[in-house]
Amino acid sequence: MSRVLTTTEAINEARRCLNCAKPTCRNGCPIENDIPQFIRALSEGNVGNAYEIISEHSNLPAICGRVCPHERQCESHCVLTKNKHGIEIGSLEMFVADFAHENSLKPIPPSTGKRGKVAVIGSGPAGLTVAGDLAKMNFAVTIFEGQSEPGGVLLFGIPEFRLSKDVVRREITELTDLGVEIKTNMLIGPDFTVDQLFDQGYDAIFMGTGTSLPRTLDIPGKELTGILTATYFLRMVVLADSGKLDNSETLLHTGDNVIVVGAGNVAMDAARTAVRRGAKNVTVVYHKTEAEISCFPSEYEEAIKEGINFNFLKKPLAYLNKKQIRALKNIRQQPSEQDDTVLAGLLVQNITKTADGEFVADGGQEYLPCDCVILAIGQRPAARIVSTTKGIEVDDKGFVITKERPYGMTTRAGVFSSGDVVHGPATVVLAMKESKKVAAGIAQYIDAKKLLEDCEQ
Ligand SMILES: Cc1cc2nc3c(=O)[nH]c(=O)nc-3n(C[C@H](O)[C@H](O)[C@H](O)COP(=O)(O)OP(=O)(O)OC[C@H]3O[C@@H](n4cnc5c(N)ncnc54)[C@H](O)[C@@H]3O)c2cc1C
Repeated sequence: MSRVLTTTEAINEARRCLNCAKPTCRNGCPIENDIPQFIRALSEGNVGNAYEIISEHSNLPAICGRVCPHERQCESHCVLTKNKHGIEIGSLEMFVADFAHENSLKPIPPSTGKRGKVAVIGSGPAGLTVAGDLAKMNFAVTIFEGQSEPGGVLLFGIPEFRLSKDVVRREITELTDLGVEIKTNMLIGPDFTVDQLFDQGYDAIFMGTGTSLPRTLDIPGKELTGILTATYFLRMVVLADSGKLDNSETLLHTGDNVIVVGAGNVAMDAARTAVRRGAKNVTVVYHKTEAEISCFPSEYEEAIKEGINFNFLKKPLAYLNKKQIRALKNIRQQPSEQDDTVLAGLLVQNITKTADGEFVADGGQEYLPCDCVILAIGQRPAARIVSTTKGIEVDDKGFVITKERPYGMTTRAGVFSSGDVVHGPATVVLAMKESKKVAAGIAQYIDAKKLLEDCEQ
């Protein structure tokens, strides 16, 4: 995890860099940030130049500095990591971006907007990257965002304690300073279609709409009160924290026993947020073993430090209400009116891992008492745009199909896509990597389109 460095600490850390003849750290960065050059500039005390170098490749360095899995990417490729003292590249990136903000450094001039007009749907990392890259290439870019504020998962998913919302807002302001226009509360599909956007004269349209539909469990009791999806819960918490919603609407109460189903990063965020919202006990239930959890190792370590319990090899079978639990425990009590409607426990099946590595039910069952279950078992794309626009094909799970040439174009000419809506839920930097290639594809498409139009005149 990145840490905040003082100027002296940052320069000293940068000076530890060996300036390798063949720098492998850069291979570990999905967007190929020029890590050796920015670290060299920083080691010489030239933070402005370091920011200029980073800005050539990244529109979101303060965010990447905080949430990228550096330990799996650039930092794991640093030769010094072999001696357990690799350069803290994430912390240096965060330092440079924060320094540039505090000192109002703006190395890149605003877009002239003369090269063409692009509509970007969605303002998560994918949309912001495409918008920023195209603005830098002098396209006029307008973002259409369905929510009341831009940022996507950066704003409404990743919790405040890992990524400050001020940092997200500030990095988005850097993009508007480049000339990107942002229109919020514009849900494309139901409110306004892709065809209507084309009618407004956009040369190309980009869809970076993410995966907003959370998966749920189709098991008995799913209608009980107290079952939430992680993305909904995290969004409610952001809205409550910003005063836009009453705290009671986050649907978790102080002293609750909470079960989180799933063991990815979203599950860790939901579990750690539940702790911060006053849950008494938080237990992560996962159907595989500790070795199979998909969250970043640092997230798992933090969750354990915060007292979150892990119950591996358990598969949810049914949500139980109070009456059913009383029957299981054989306790006689007058049933209250709520007993049929309120969640009181999760019935789970015990799973065993065989010698072949398969996960099979071993016949045993157990009930785990809880007041709230938060489901973090994956997300998939909504069909708002593809169901209202002809010609955009998706695969059998709803993910948008794109082409290699021009990179990122969907099966509808002029409509491009990338990010989670194409490759499935992944990371900020993967959405950025793909979106940078798509921005280049859009530029290529618009230039070719305009050239043909000129030839026809
Ligand atoms: C809780 C959580 C924690 C995470 N933590 C990390 C982390 O620490 N590090 C990391 O690298 N990755 C993390 N990820 C993953 C990462 O955030 C995503 O991979 C990334 O945000 C995907 O970017 P995107 O732009 O494709 O989609 P999103 O960020 O989902 O953005 C899509 C945007 O499109 C908008 N939209 C959707 N439909 C429409 C429409 N029809 N009209 C207008 N607007 C629309 C949405 O409102 C949203 O703003 C996390 C994800 C979650 C859910």
